[in-house]
Amino acid sequence: MKTIKDVKRCQQWCRRLRWPVVLVPTMGALHEGHLSLVRKATKYGKNVVVSIFVNPTQFGNNEDLDKYPRNLKKDLALLKKEKVTAVFVPDVKQVYGEDLADQTTILADKYLGSKLCGASRPGHFDGVVTIVAKLFNIINPDIAIFGQKDYQQFLIIKKLVADLNFPTKVLMSEIVREEDGLAMSSRNQYLSDVQRMQSLIIYKTLALAKILFREEKNVGAVKQLLLKHLRRVPEIRLDYLSILDAKNLLEIEKYQKKSTLVAIAVFVGKTRLIDNVII
Ligand code: AMP
Repeated sequence: MKTIKDVKRCQQWCRRLRWPVVLVPTMGALHEGHLSLVRKATKYGKNVVVSIFVNPTQFGNNEDLDKYPRNLKKDLALLKKEKVTAVFVPDVKQVYGEDLADQTTILADKYLGSKLCGASRPGHFDGVVTIVAKLFNIINPDIAIFGQKDYQQFLIIKKLVADLNFPTKVLMSEIVREEDGLAMSSRNQYLSDVQRMQSLIIYKTLALAKILFREEKNVGAVKQLLLKHLRRVPEIRLDYLSILDAKNLLEIEKYQKKSTLVAIAVFVGKTRLIDNVII
């Protein structure tokens, strides 16, 4: 497994790789969720490149950029056990030059980028599409794999690829959960034992949505019941609970078979957690 820090070297080296090159972009602090993406990638192609980069432009001013977990040594050890061809680990200067503010940026699709996390994290998805476009230009992947955990991000990247004519095929990989249902996330490390228990209400609420939609087809009615359920843990502060069309994030009034997205974002203490199901 090759570790590359330099942007130019990575670009030159990736050009020589044989088709298909599969990219798994991450921000590190790897867990089984990330590794499931890597394993999916190895099924698609011999050349798997994993990027590890905590992208500053997708963090808001009062967010957790500085304390975001970083553990490169452990990440590299985990990736060594998978069939990874190369790990790209640039530093911020390598990627953005001396002045972060003085950069060409891409704006995420206006509508998709304004919903869900876009509403509470202004500019977040612009940072995401900009770094993804840069990674695509550096690594030139035939396939890139993203997790359903960040479903809105996946839709926005699909749109980026379509709108800017990237030749990369974008695939989604399912959410990996802890045994008790909590979606794996690098941010779970921030949780105290009590908060970890409280966080379970997120998955339980999504599981309840699945059950409710079997009988009740009215989105408004189900949403009220889900909100009530979520309020059973009053320590958890709701950012959003939204039920939308999974294809395009449009509002829906009635359940749509296999295309009803229930997405939740909450704060547990200072930690923001997201999760979703498509029913
Ligand atoms: P991150 O390091 O959080 O930016 O995530 C890198 C990639 O891993 C993204 O495509 C995420 O959607 C995906 N990912 C994160 N957590 C999970 C999970 N629990 N299951 C599946 N994919 C995940």
